[in-house]
Amino acid sequence: MTTAAIIVAAGRGTRAGDGPPKQWRNLGGSPVLTRTARCFGAIDRIVVVLHPDDMALGIGAFEGGVTLIAGGATRAASVRNALEALDGSGVTRVLIHDGARPFATAGVVSRVLGALATAAGAAPALPVSDALWLGNAGRVSGVQARDSLWRAQTPQGFRYEEILAAHRAHPGGAADDVEVALAAGLHVAIVAGDEANFKITYAEDFARAEKALGAGMDVRVGNGFDVHAFTRGDHVMLCGVRVPHSRALLGHSDADVGMHALTDAIYGALAAGDIGRHFPPSDAQWKGAESHIFLAHATEMARARGYAVSNADVTLICELPKIGPHAAAMADELARIIGCGADRISVKATTSERLGFTGRKEGIAAMATVTLVQG
Ligand code: MG
Repeated sequence: MTTAAIIVAAGRGTRAGDGPPKQWRNLGGSPVLTRTARCFGAIDRIVVVLHPDDMALGIGAFEGGVTLIAGGATRAASVRNALEALDGSGVTRVLIHDGARPFATAGVVSRVLGALATAAGAAPALPVSDALWLGNAGRVSGVQARDSLWRAQTPQGFRYEEILAAHRAHPGGAADDVEVALAAGLHVAIVAGDEANFKITYAEDFARAEKALGAGMDVRVGNGFDVHAFTRGDHVMLCGVRVPHSRALLGHSDADVGMHALTDAIYGALAAGDIGRHFPPSDAQWKGAESHIFLAHATEMARARGYAVSNADVTLICELPKIGPHAAAMADELARIIGCGADRISVKATTSERLGFTGRKEGIAAMATVTLVQG
């Protein structure tokens, strides 16, 4: 058995608003039609029916051996052109699909093809769950029973010879190929469709399609790095936790090297500079400032731009003090300031194997990575 997928994309898509026809609009980095064709990568042959003006656009738009056919004046004429082009090719089954349904699932395709074992035609559909009304001039005039109504989808599958004969016998303005098949007396089975397999018709459907792809979800990553030198003292502030130590960290603020690295990571993800830009060391008001002010500022800036911290990972690099006993309290404090779950914040430590300035216990270094997501 040889199967061909015919993808019908010869319309102009005027209901989807301004811009290029909807099948050529970008959806997560590829034209809608390219995505639609990918749904049929496992099918023996793919035929794409294009508007005659779009034939040049079709060259290079598809992976693998896709046949391009010029469409006709109506949808039925376009399908007919593709069916005629397959005459004599050895194709025994065809799947006829809307170019503007880029989310046809393997399950739907498989159910349609499976049903062709016992029916000349098979098509996916979904039951109607909303109540249906009759109405005139903005007023409900009656109700419509929905028990025997179905929302039709594609791909609609047929035994090739039978649907070709049906199209030849019933040229005209059928809405889809099931209508043509019924006019020819063919038996068409209904198989389960999929809500994900929706058709892009109106401009707002693009937003739904982007969401379905996860495209348009803006994820940002930032990193931060900071160093502070030791000076005389009896404790250090690290990630908002006071840790007793034989030395202190030197800095204009409270020298919380971990919180500074994390704050800079958030500014970095926003492409908004660093702590020094927002809290200049030359400004006396930040002398001795507690660093949670900086972290809260960066977090609020992210929030104002529509981002939330999804997770953060802070690494402190020092020989002493020992971080392990305080790491959980540090993560809790950072999460509290940021306003996220403590399970989204990691604080860990490493030594530098006694090498370099941290190895000589001259100071502490910190690095941080943060992920911001929209929402
Ligand atoms: Mg610093």
